[in-house]
Amino acid sequence: DGEIVFDNVSFTYDGRKPAIRGVSFRVPKGGSVALVGESGAGKSTILRLLYRFYDLKENEGRILVDGQDIRDVTQASLRKAVGVVPQDAVLFNANIAYNIGYGKLGSSLEEVEEAAKAAQMHDRIMSFPAKYETEVGERGIRLSGGEKQRVAIARTLLKNPPILLLDEATSALDTSTERDIQKALQNLVRGRSSLSIAHRLSTIANADLILVLKDGQIIEQGNHEQLLKLN
Ligand code: ADP
Ligand code: ADP
Repeated sequence: DGEIVFDNVSFTYDGRKPAIRGVSFRVPKGGSVALVGESGAGKSTILRLLYRFYDLKENEGRILVDGQDIRDVTQASLRKAVGVVPQDAVLFNANIAYNIGYGKLGSSLEEVEEAAKAAQMHDRIMSFPAKYETEVGERGIRLSGGEKQRVAIARTLLKNPPILLLDEATSALDTSTERDIQKALQNLVRGRSSLSIAHRLSTIANADLILVLKDGQIIEQGNHEQLLKLN
């Protein structure tokens, strides 16, 4: 399972102009769809709606997961099926192993280590992420944005959901970090349906379908080659 269908979906935040309008697309089981477009185009709104951060009203279209309207599914079972890798992962004040293990409560250290390895984050899992300079003591390490994202990737690997929502970091990363993250993402995406807010060229190039959004509408769609020919 893991098929996602957006059927003529529109959504308006209170007192605003519509954030998305008449959006329809399908992510087949195991497929990957990349959302691209300028800031404010509606990409995050699409992810939030699928995660039921907001619910659609009767006249705003339908979102189906494996043929079922997500309004008819409990929030808990939807969140079991859908993993989120946010741009800026929230970490607890606990060691990295614990932060990864939170993806699946009751997991063994072995499982945590395996997930950490697949996310290229196995180096210092007994260290504590430090927020402030003063916390960087013997066991504290300051995590870069890329490292935080790898912790989130490991956490989601452990959770093992059939569907993934990815919000890729916008900031430029150095080449070796970029390579590590790319590997971690490949390990995560393999065999799952994914919907990504894509900034990395590699994600866009590897997507089965790219949706170009503007002012809340899909203005172009196709694979990488097809879109290149359009321009
Ligand atoms: P993107 O992810 O492509 O940058 P968003 O989905 O965040 O776009 O935003 C789409 C539109 O909805 C924008 O006009 C934005 O200002 C508006 N918007 C986004 N989030 C909220 C919110 N929580 N409340 C009100 N308006 C919002
Ligand atoms: P779980 O139910 O798997 O514990 P959470 O609801 O705690 O998942 O969310 C997992 C991560 O995704 C958290 O870092 C949270 O901030 C982030 N998140 C949750 N909902 C959204 C959303 N609508 N948009 C972006 N990030 C989200």
